[in-house]
Amino acid sequence: SNDKSTTQLKSTCCYCGVGCGVIIEKQFNGLINIKGDESHPSNRGLLCSKGMNLHHTVNDQSDRLLFPQMRYGKHLPLLRVDWNTALERAAAVFSTFIEKYGPDSVAFYASGQCLTEEYYVLNKLVKGFIGTNNIDTNSRLCMSSAVAAYKMALGEDTVPVCYDDIELSDCIFVAGANPAWCHPIIWRRVEQHKAANPSVKIIVIDPRVTDSCAIADLHLQLNPGTDITLFHAIAKILIENGQIDASFIQLHATGFDAFKRMLAQQSVHEAALICGLSESQIQLAANYIAQSNGFLSMWTMGLNQSAVGVNKNLSLLNLHLITGKIGKPGSGPLSLTGQPNAMGGREVGGLANLLPAHRDLGNSAHRQEVQVFWGGKEIGSKPGLTATEMFDALADGRLKAIWIACTNPLISLPDVRKAEEALKKAKFVVVQEISNKAETLPYADVVLPAAAWSEKEGTMTNSERRISYLPKGNIAPGEALADQEIFCRFAKKMHFKGFDFPNTEAIYLEHAQLTKGTNIDISQLNYRLIQESRSIQWPYKNQQSTPRLFTDHAFHTPDKKARIHTVTANFNSEQPDDQYPYILTTGRIRDQWHTRSKTSKVNKLNQHIPRAYLTVHPIDAKPLGLREDDIVIVRSRRGEVTVPCKIDRAIKPGVVFLPMHWGKISGSDLNRVNNLTNKLLDPISKEPDFKFCAVQIEKF
Ligand code: SF4
Repeated sequence: SNDKSTTQLKSTCCYCGVGCGVIIEKQFNGLINIKGDESHPSNRGLLCSKGMNLHHTVNDQSDRLLFPQMRYGKHLPLLRVDWNTALERAAAVFSTFIEKYGPDSVAFYASGQCLTEEYYVLNKLVKGFIGTNNIDTNSRLCMSSAVAAYKMALGEDTVPVCYDDIELSDCIFVAGANPAWCHPIIWRRVEQHKAANPSVKIIVIDPRVTDSCAIADLHLQLNPGTDITLFHAIAKILIENGQIDASFIQLHATGFDAFKRMLAQQSVHEAALICGLSESQIQLAANYIAQSNGFLSMWTMGLNQSAVGVNKNLSLLNLHLITGKIGKPGSGPLSLTGQPNAMGGREVGGLANLLPAHRDLGNSAHRQEVQVFWGGKEIGSKPGLTATEMFDALADGRLKAIWIACTNPLISLPDVRKAEEALKKAKFVVVQEISNKAETLPYADVVLPAAAWSEKEGTMTNSERRISYLPKGNIAPGEALADQEIFCRFAKKMHFKGFDFPNTEAIYLEHAQLTKGTNIDISQLNYRLIQESRSIQWPYKNQQSTPRLFTDHAFHTPDKKARIHTVTANFNSEQPDDQYPYILTTGRIRDQWHTRSKTSKVNKLNQHIPRAYLTVHPIDAKPLGLREDDIVIVRSRRGEVTVPCKIDRAIKPGVVFLPMHWGKISGSDLNRVNNLTNKLLDPISKEPDFKFCAVQIEKF
């Protein structure tokens, strides 16, 4: 404390995967203030508009759920009950379904915003004790394509670089991302680096002209979905010009010859036509990469949220592997995590196809290790239902009960009206939430009030593998409890052993033990060490944090070689036609976060862009008779939205854009973009094709 009236606590911003350090200043009146933490290496004191206004979301508790509620029949109202009653009912109903229909008749759907400890106990509860792999999180909608591709190419789901590589790179390749708005503090570092070193080349690949293009040397405004064709063409040029690292390929990678043969089948000219770019633009991109010492790539949902998301990721990773620009200062892939703790969730194995510490569900020795450690049920080899599959299974009756924690699928799932119908059909729904406004609440049989950020302790891992500690600084309102406490109490009601943790750190230490001897080993870490060094990048070996991986070029595959994957550029997204002639793409805006449960409470943040809108190019607006702010009805084969339009040259003709954040407003769902989107999934990652569907537009 530096002042009699305030206490200071070091914590981490709960929004995006940048993972900025914040200082919570607790005032004598119980309210908090936020400032950037200069001692945190990820942000060095900087905060973006969302992080800077974080205290408002804590200080305003007007929308908080305060006590458990329950209804005794689908048509009866929710009534206040105590925790014991709510959890006993949940345990009784879940047990009944498990007994009658088997453990696969229940599922848990959680969030990349959960703390690592919460993820850990939930995963243990579901896979180890209920005996189903039906646990997935909204990270499925976000990072699962990157996860799969890292594993296929590098042998492990691992980001090899750190943010300090930004300042060491001289070519930054940003694909399908708008970090200026969505990962602002990383982008501040890129901007400062470029300002200090104007020769650093920035390449932005996006069908839209975004704020990230402002400092770009080259903006490749490609046709949506054509990323693989572009990356292949760049690879082809690098190979033909001899601008690859032949000795790296020979010693440290496999698959190059097949890749080269495949690239021979398409000329750069043909690729340019497909991408809607000029040949010289593609040549220039290849040239920037070839001339660089440090080649850093960044990407987010433009690559991941696609029916070919894994292939898009693999074809980008190929550019690092053929140039050998990986595991060296300033070089490598830096996937920007959407959510604050998507990576922590992967570490504990909190997805339907994962096991703790990056173990494989398909590997019987790995399953055995975890089962013995937990002392629970046999773990099945079959992946559980993923995010969208859970709602399909609710709709067709395979799934009877779902527990939704810390996420709002009724805004964020694709083809969301179908998800809503599915939730209506569910026999039993538990909603664990902080906000009394969530669209899921009307479908809940049991509502459990959860503690929010700063009201519970735990850890998170950001986009550069950096584990930070978050202290409990505030008391949760009413009877709200920390998510891990809710899961543990439920586990005990189910009579499962191994959920009697004396404190949150005990959960962390158990998780850390499971990482022993793995590539993400943090078994020597504890809360004190993380707090003392402010944050630590895994693995933590010999009392050392690990800023950069693969510096010895030994990848995590059995033969230590990386894999160059020959992937096809074909994609099966819903193509525009006469009836639905425009391609809809979706994304974030600067000052809102996901489903707005926090950011909508902050007036300053609502001012930037106050409501959902459709961006249309003037060439498309003209024949439709549209003028700025006209109301338009946008329809797809699945639903419609009614929003004002913005006429803007920043979008490609034939493509329109809608932001992802809005749900129901005053009972109307007509701002909700996911009424329109498509449930088409990547076959490997099961990540939905959010960035591509066909729509028609009509003036209201
Ligand atoms: Fe928070 Fe992300 Fe902004 Fe940093 S960049 S302050 S983590 S929202």
